[in-house]
Amino acid sequence: MVSIVKIYIDAGHGGQDSGAVGNGLQEKNIVAEIARQMNQILATEYENVQTAMTRMDDTFVSLSERANRANAWGADAFISIHCNSGGGKGFESYRYSGVTDSRTIAFQNTVHDHVMGFYSQHGIVDRGKKSANYAVLRETNMIAVLTENLFMDNVEITKFNDLNFLIGAARAHAEGVAAFFGLKKKPQIVYIYTGGFAGNALAEVHDYLFRTGDGFDCKRGEDGSIIFLIGPFDTSQQNFKDCKNFLDSKGHYNKLLSPEEAADWR
Ligand SMILES: [Zn+2]
Repeated sequence: MVSIVKIYIDAGHGGQDSGAVGNGLQEKNIVAEIARQMNQILATEYENVQTAMTRMDDTFVSLSERANRANAWGADAFISIHCNSGGGKGFESYRYSGVTDSRTIAFQNTVHDHVMGFYSQHGIVDRGKKSANYAVLRETNMIAVLTENLFMDNVEITKFNDLNFLIGAARAHAEGVAAFFGLKKKPQIVYIYTGGFAGNALAEVHDYLFRTGDGFDCKRGEDGSIIFLIGPFDTSQQNFKDCKNFLDSKGHYNKLLSPEEAADWR
């Protein structure tokens, strides 16, 4: 039997509790969006994982209630997402000051290092792996970590106005959790959409597809050339890599389409 890993994602603050504010932004909104994105990434891209969240929207939940819910749900790990304030800058993470067990420390290390791996590419400084007597860390029964993502009272917080930056931070949190538990990625299904082919290039691509047996569909472009939609491929499989390599190495334009985009193409 495959065991399912249960991850509890806790977006700090909410409702009447805005958390810290600064630069025209409220902590509760930033952390809610990071949590939502992190949840989405874990739930859609990884196998054998179940997620729960303290809040999906702007509601107030007390600190003890957050811990109680994670405990009652039987979470394997708890991750609380916050932004800092008080005249500093950068990223830091916390575990409960009362724990010394190696799993909690390893969990903090893995999440911290993945998140910092993202932030360091954006000039965000590492304030270190810390411990504190925070209620959500103290009252949760499972391994738990709290991240403090940049300072509301420093202009660096406005980086979160860029959705790509925010999603990058959320993805780094998700990847840290996934790495700690050894979660496998779900196979990703794509199609390869090509440019238009004519003459020798058309014969070459046609040959390749008949040789490999990769499924394809084609249509005539406005200039009379033939455009291919090749797939579906599982990106983890060799035939995908071979086909992509073939097109790239010949200098043939191509791009990847999701199954939904491929359906529109037809
Ligand atoms: Zn906070």
